[in-house]
Amino acid sequence: MENSQGLIVVTGGGGFIGGSLVAALRARGRKSIRAIDLKPFESWYQKFDDVENLSLDLNRKENCETAAKGAYEIYNLAANMGGMGFIEHNKALCMLSVLINTHMLQAAVKHGVERFFYSSSACVYNADKQRTFEAPSLKEEDAYPAMAEDGYGWEKLFSERMCRHFREDYGLRTRVARFHNVYGPWGTWYGGREKAPAAICRKVIEAKVSGKHEIEIWGSGLQTRSFMYIDDCLKGVDLIMNSEILEPINLGSNEAVTINQLVDLAEEFAGIKLKRNYNLTAPKGVNGRNSHNALIQKYLHWEPNTPLRCGLEKTYRWIYDQYLARERGDAGVVRE
Ligand code: NAD
Repeated sequence: MENSQGLIVVTGGGGFIGGSLVAALRARGRKSIRAIDLKPFESWYQKFDDVENLSLDLNRKENCETAAKGAYEIYNLAANMGGMGFIEHNKALCMLSVLINTHMLQAAVKHGVERFFYSSSACVYNADKQRTFEAPSLKEEDAYPAMAEDGYGWEKLFSERMCRHFREDYGLRTRVARFHNVYGPWGTWYGGREKAPAAICRKVIEAKVSGKHEIEIWGSGLQTRSFMYIDDCLKGVDLIMNSEILEPINLGSNEAVTINQLVDLAEEFAGIKLKRNYNLTAPKGVNGRNSHNALIQKYLHWEPNTPLRCGLEKTYRWIYDQYLARERGDAGVVRE
């Protein structure tokens, strides 16, 4: 049974999804929350005074023990993470996130933690099943035979299995969701780690503000993806954490769009039309990918359902404000 007073630990609490999860937990009335991130506090997207905030490197086992001590449940969201440009050029760093997951699982067992959530990714899916632009819907079973995204995806697949074996061998209640492209306010929108929705919004805003009405698009623009709004992600995490779903499950929208359609939307919000320059040598990832949602529907009678237009417009407006604040030299980013 859920312990509404128990200490909740969120790793990656200074990041996009971790910070948003802390905000959501507070909004749900949870009083005892510990947020941990490698980044110094001034770089956290969201930071709250009524939360125990720790700036620690969770690659280190002793820090994971500090993080897990006294926890009732752990949401392990810390990882080396970014869009295609980042993960294609930082494969070793992405694989090193295995240290975080290994040490957090060990610390969770040691401290008798009740439940452990692990954020996996659609990057675990077999590359052969994502060669067409027609956005194949990936079922959970399509992760095997394994041919994950090099680096980042293999680490996720390995850590998923570690969660399974910690559950089977040590009785830790692990829950695993495979996120498909999460976007929304309070996420990375510049600096090289941003993902496609934020990058495209920023580029369109740059074009609008500068008056240079051009945009560089990575790849042919025909790649298809689905994008999940942050509120849906948080709802899904809560439902999955408190369910008896033992195997990794897709948590993603099934509204597939091309990158060109994503640009169409951002242009519409900005009220401009841009000349599109396609950079065919830039990192672009697999050709097509969508979330197959039969399993989540079966278990939870729900699936992420915020229309892309609706979520992207909120994200565009948030990035626009951040962009202008940054131009003025205001910090603008941290919510306290
Ligand atoms: P993010 O980069 O905003 O957050 C991750 C946080 O982990 C960062 O703040 C980072 O500083 C922190 N971190 C990294 N190494 C650390 C360490 N050694 N010790 C402590 N903290 C460390 O990314 P996000 O989008 O919020 O992603 C959260 C989780 O969801 C990650 O596990 C990511 O792989 C997964 N995921 C995200 C998406 C997405 O579209 N955003 C998709 C699939 C999976």
